[in-house]
Amino acid sequence: MSDKPRSPIESGCPDAFQYMHPVMRKNYGAWKYHEHPKPGVLRHVGYSGDEIWTVRVGTQRILDIFTLRELCDIGDEFADGYIHFTIRSNVEYMVADEAKVEPLIKAIEDAGYIVGGTKNSVTMISHTQGWLHCDIPGTDASGVVKSMMDELIDEFRENNMPNRVHITTSCCQINCGGQGDIAINVQHTKPPKINHDLVSNVCERPSVVARCPVAAIRPAMVNGKPSLEVDEKKCICCGACYPPCPPMQINDAEHTKLAIWVGGNHSNARGKPTFQKLVAAGIPNNPPRWPEANAIVKGILKAYKEGAKDWERINDWIERIGWPRFFEVTNLPFTKYHVDTWRGARNSLNASTHIRF
Ligand code: SF4
Ligand code: SF4
Repeated sequence: MSDKPRSPIESGCPDAFQYMHPVMRKNYGAWKYHEHPKPGVLRHVGYSGDEIWTVRVGTQRILDIFTLRELCDIGDEFADGYIHFTIRSNVEYMVADEAKVEPLIKAIEDAGYIVGGTKNSVTMISHTQGWLHCDIPGTDASGVVKSMMDELIDEFRENNMPNRVHITTSCCQINCGGQGDIAINVQHTKPPKINHDLVSNVCERPSVVARCPVAAIRPAMVNGKPSLEVDEKKCICCGACYPPCPPMQINDAEHTKLAIWVGGNHSNARGKPTFQKLVAAGIPNNPPRWPEANAIVKGILKAYKEGAKDWERINDWIERIGWPRFFEVTNLPFTKYHVDTWRGARNSLNASTHIRF
């Protein structure tokens, strides 16, 4: 046996360069400028003089094997054999010859897909899909995305918004999916209901206790068995205890709702990051078309489209007109959920350099 340590086997994302269009690979990091000839199409020009056209395509989001094969066949026949998925689950085809752009768009549209999502459009809603791979979803996020994008299809196809609109969704209340110009997130409205018979068989009680952000969970003996109890006055109904302990059931058809937040934006060359704020809470989680959530998002987009100046993102627009005016123009009620009780802020307040207890 060798005394030399075995070198680690690295696995992870494969090298992306092998899948890139050759013109992209050749001009990597050496693009001179890009422009936007029409909605859904980008043209990049390199210092080498090479050009490449990108056509962006929206899909139904959950892609079955037949759809993937169809999309790949379009790439093989019309787009030099390459296909690329964006972080928002759009598909992008690239061609190095302008003459191929229109036949490619025709093939995409003939197959039932839509071209758009570039520049000042509402691009595809980014989201996760808990029920396919995760243990804590409270709703079907892909269904919310599909129903919403069906109604916003013209805003995807055209460039009618003051600036880009990034919408996000999440299928639980605590993890992925949060930050966007508009975010549609799950909102639990009642503390978890504990199935005491199962806790001792299924849950690591210390890790469940440690998981609670407001220290609302305590170990307890119930009917002679080790279990847990929740101080419901402290509980902020976040759902964080449910993943390590499924018997702390928090999802249900009546009390699991949706909430809508707006104004989240990453920092860029001109501005600091902004955090999203809650604007609508307690919205029914109402499959299969989520009409209540759709109506609110459409109302916010309409007010933004009518009221914002060119190039203002949603957070810039709200910053200029102020929150009271935002609630007026969107006709959204101001409810008790908008008032921050600071119950979740124990750690952040203690960590501040300005406030000490
Ligand atoms: S949002 Fe929540 S449920 Fe959905 S995938 Fe992320 S962690 Fe899982
Ligand atoms: S739902 Fe959240 S706040 Fe309530 S007990 Fe569970 S972890 Fe704690």
